[in-house]
Amino acid sequence: MAAITLQPDMDFVRRLKETGGHNLKECYQCATCSVACPMAPDNKPFPRKEMVWASFGLKEKLTGDIDLWLCHNCGNCSDLCPRHAGPAELMSAARDIIYRDMLKPRLIGEWMSKPSGLVPLFLIPALIWFIVWWIRASIVGSWFPRAADGRIVFGTIFYGDYTIDPIFMITFFGAAFILAHGCRKLLDKFRPEGKLAVIGKKKNWFVCLMEVLWEETGSASKFAQCEEGPATGEPHKTRRFSHTMLVWSFCILTFVTTVVAIGHWGGKILPFILIETPMPQGFWVKILANIGAALLIIALIMLTWRRATLNRHQASNYYDWYLLGIIWAVALTGMFTQIFRLMDWIHWAFVIYYIHLVVVWMLFAYVPWSKLGHFVYRTAAMVYARMYGRS
Ligand code: SF4
Ligand code: SF4
Repeated sequence: MAAITLQPDMDFVRRLKETGGHNLKECYQCATCSVACPMAPDNKPFPRKEMVWASFGLKEKLTGDIDLWLCHNCGNCSDLCPRHAGPAELMSAARDIIYRDMLKPRLIGEWMSKPSGLVPLFLIPALIWFIVWWIRASIVGSWFPRAADGRIVFGTIFYGDYTIDPIFMITFFGAAFILAHGCRKLLDKFRPEGKLAVIGKKKNWFVCLMEVLWEETGSASKFAQCEEGPATGEPHKTRRFSHTMLVWSFCILTFVTTVVAIGHWGGKILPFILIETPMPQGFWVKILANIGAALLIIALIMLTWRRATLNRHQASNYYDWYLLGIIWAVALTGMFTQIFRLMDWIHWAFVIYYIHLVVVWMLFAYVPWSKLGHFVYRTAAMVYARMYGRS
């Protein structure tokens, strides 16, 4: 009989523990978690096998496991685990480590993994926008200028055409490029195709993508499946609702931003579609923007409440709190920017607007290393799994 030699990576085990899988060694392989999981396929279910691989430090096995990405972090398995080994937290920690390690520059992934990294992450955009403010203030002769008609217009300092638009365009497309590269690297981990537990009929990737997007955003049926899973200690019925609201608020705000960009740039060629900022409160695009912002705030309150009141067998890690924190920062600074502008408090309005630009930049630029990027990676993995009949 051939001997098999395991090569445990104990440093990987240490990192899993640090990132959220503190209790992984408590597992005694009863498989209750795999029975409890509403997402696990019948053939080779998860997350028991992942607990074995994590326990033995089998890094290659775990990081090349597509099932990690089928998990929706509902916490049923952690609730029902008799040893409180935290399988849901282990699955989440493994995903976090994968996208921390996968992309360059690695330093950003390191900073994104711990609270002390917030300082450099904040300072980078703070410096960029401060330099913009400083140069513009030198040109217009004031750090807090008013428009010719006396209104507060942020474009007098942060002029859209030459500052905000090019900086955010470079940031957006740079992040999108890194994100696409990350998806490619992730899918490479699942190859060769024989590594998949089930090989079924290969389906068209576009059909699979549409199915996954509908299940994840349109109908949120996967979250419903989580809620309808085995009875757990304290179900959080609002999870599906709050996630759906968050997704729709992002869709509305993205639509509004696109309309304003088209109106601004297109208006230079076709004057009848010109949109000037700040927009009047009664303008339909502004109304839509305020609806999107209100949905975002409600979703954030619900999600934060859920995370803060998880039962004692579940836990949120730093990645969860970072994403919630940065979206809160974007929403609140955006709201107060508008309030201070309407109140005509020019100093507060400009300072909060400056911080708003900093946190919006952080939200977009660091997406590939954050929980937001995780949604893209998971979508890519789910499409891939579905193409090969495992879903
Ligand atoms: S994680 Fe818990 S439920 Fe799952 S196999 Fe281990 S001890 Fe059992
Ligand atoms: S967190 Fe939910 S979806 Fe993920 S493994 Fe546990 S039971 Fe399954």
